[in-house]
Amino acid sequence: MLDVTILPILSDNYAYIFKIGETVGIVDPGEAAPIIDYLELNNLKPDYILITHHHFDHVDGIEQIKSKYNCIVIGPTAEQSKIYGIDKRVCETDTLDINGEDVQIIETAGHTMGHICYYFKNSKVLFSGDTLFAMGCGRLFEGTAKDMFHSFKKLRALPNDTTVYCGHEYTIDNAKFCLSVDGDNAALIERAKEVQTIRDNNKPTIPTTMGLEKKTNVFMRCDTAQEFKKYRDLKDNF
Ligand SMILES: [Zn+2]
Repeated sequence: MLDVTILPILSDNYAYIFKIGETVGIVDPGEAAPIIDYLELNNLKPDYILITHHHFDHVDGIEQIKSKYNCIVIGPTAEQSKIYGIDKRVCETDTLDINGEDVQIIETAGHTMGHICYYFKNSKVLFSGDTLFAMGCGRLFEGTAKDMFHSFKKLRALPNDTTVYCGHEYTIDNAKFCLSVDGDNAALIERAKEVQTIRDNNKPTIPTTMGLEKKTNVFMRCDTAQEFKKYRDLKDNF
């Protein structure tokens, strides 16, 4: 049974601590201090660090955490030269076994070319990094809209009851954008109100679910790469 704790770090990033029995892992430690504080407070020793992509706000905590706990760093083969201390390189054909959980690697080029998502099959949990956000999608720093569209298609194939943990709290802005292009969508209107209340109370709007994204995220609702590009371009100037 996978247990996930959300740790807000930096200005609007989320790092995650997961537990499977006695096994502990960290996803995307963009800074070390708040993560080490949490681990110490809860008497936890991490076994793994999982990295979705090479950006500083996802990797800058690796060095300090690894030197303190000597944990195994797992990250995308395609970005190994840009990520400190990688021990295990993974790509789409790989499945990891983390204390009995099958973890499927999904390559999701777009935000960066080597970006990967981690899908914990048995628990139906996805760590989507900066590919899929609640009601949004990552900026195209390295890939094209077509790349990202194909990455979204892969994620869309996951079950509706997949729990999704993403890399940033961008939900309010994303909801505003979705409403600007899909304002008659009742599920979206309802959700936009819900996330506003959550943020007014200073709580994370994460996790989301794949089913909810399919209903409310305009990028997840696109059927063609052209349509996807149109929305991505509009969002860039929103
Ligand atoms: Zn990023």
